[in-house]
Amino acid sequence: MKILGVKGMNDILPDPLGPMSVWQRIEAACRARFDRYGYREVRTPIVEETRLFARSIGEETDIVGKEMYSFTDRKGKKQLSLRPEGTAGVVRSYIQHSVHSKNPITKWWYGGPMYRYERVQAGRYRQFHQIGAEALGVAAPAMDAEMLLMLDGLLRHDLGIQSLTLLINSLGDRADRASYVQALRDYLGSHLTGLCEDCKKRYERNPLRALDCKVPPCQPILDKAPRIKAHLSSEARTHFDTVLELLSGMQVPFEIKPRLVRGLDYYNRTCFEFVAGGLGAHDTVCAGGRYDDLVKTLGGPSIPAVGFALGMERLVLLAPKELSRRPEGPAVFFVSVDEEAISTCFRLTESLRRAGLEAEMDQRGGSVKSQMRRADKVHARFAVVIGEQETSEGAAHIKDLRAGEEVPVETPVSFEDLAAEIHLRLKRSS
Ligand code: ATP
Ligand code: MG
Repeated sequence: MKILGVKGMNDILPDPLGPMSVWQRIEAACRARFDRYGYREVRTPIVEETRLFARSIGEETDIVGKEMYSFTDRKGKKQLSLRPEGTAGVVRSYIQHSVHSKNPITKWWYGGPMYRYERVQAGRYRQFHQIGAEALGVAAPAMDAEMLLMLDGLLRHDLGIQSLTLLINSLGDRADRASYVQALRDYLGSHLTGLCEDCKKRYERNPLRALDCKVPPCQPILDKAPRIKAHLSSEARTHFDTVLELLSGMQVPFEIKPRLVRGLDYYNRTCFEFVAGGLGAHDTVCAGGRYDDLVKTLGGPSIPAVGFALGMERLVLLAPKELSRRPEGPAVFFVSVDEEAISTCFRLTESLRRAGLEAEMDQRGGSVKSQMRRADKVHARFAVVIGEQETSEGAAHIKDLRAGEEVPVETPVSFEDLAAEIHLRLKRSS
């Protein structure tokens, strides 16, 4: 019986079978970029109480309503869920450890798998990975702008994604949204016959969500829908304008998208997405915004915050070719001429690893030819062939596998000097 992985949950294989090196390079780029902006890594559990997500993301959202992997624990008492996103857990942790009382400003980033029972298609999976960050404690628009600068630098500069657009909008504050939702509902109510079934439901439950609809016949209606701008308080308006000015001042391009809303309930004021060409329907690689009420909603003090999440799978699909360069193989591959040489190879391989080098051998032994083929296959840089003579003399030749046939025979290098010599040659050729 062959047991396969769960639908929508993918293996990420090492190169060259899979894109692992691309994943690792993107993760390293995020880490380095976040470091420079003062974000520290936090790791929270994959499983949380279901009510954490219900309260933060919102009962009426698709995520909580129909996409969560939920179960009762073994005692049948607690309702638990696999996290569908990262912010709720991070904020729960922030409150639980009273982080605000130790430090008025907290910048945290996180990464890992998220779970949503979605319709599986390219760029949309049931286990997917996000890297995100949250800045807690600052209401000023400069924090929103700083975060967007960080993302623009990461995506455009560090990851080399060219076809990138920052879409931005303001959702206003709670009162602004209430007045806007009323206006939007009135408008949608007078166009109900032209709307899709989902939008008819959204009209009643959450009209804002309709703005996010992708169904073609809804588009002309939604395009003419009233815009939130007219409903923004002067504070929210000023906040938004300041974010835009700061971005312009740093030459970060953006596009105001009046219809931009998010699929999660907790956002207010600034909301944004980075979309990239080349991904088809699922072109959003990063989404986020301000959520000034969430900490309080989850039982903490009133602490403003802003955050985002990047979709790793979509970034990997987009990553330019340079990022998927073939990874380096081992520096040295030891080849044993006969059974007796295997133990010398074993010793030398370990001594090189202790000296900080990647070294490999074929523990099965076998013919020199087959071992050389193996060295080639794993892209080893140098080969060192060990036989009776090498073992008794304590010295061996280093063969450069990337050089042609014409390399003159050099004097053997003693086993003690092998690591230093390899380090030297690698440095010379880098
Ligand atoms: P979408 O509109 O594409 O469904 P969303 O609004 O549900 O996105 P968020 O919850 O804001 O997305 O997540 C942020 C990012 O995580 C998305 O922009 C996307 O890149 C990625 N993402 C979300 N859901 C999935 C998924 N099921 N599979 C792969 N990536 C995803
Ligand atoms: Mg979604």
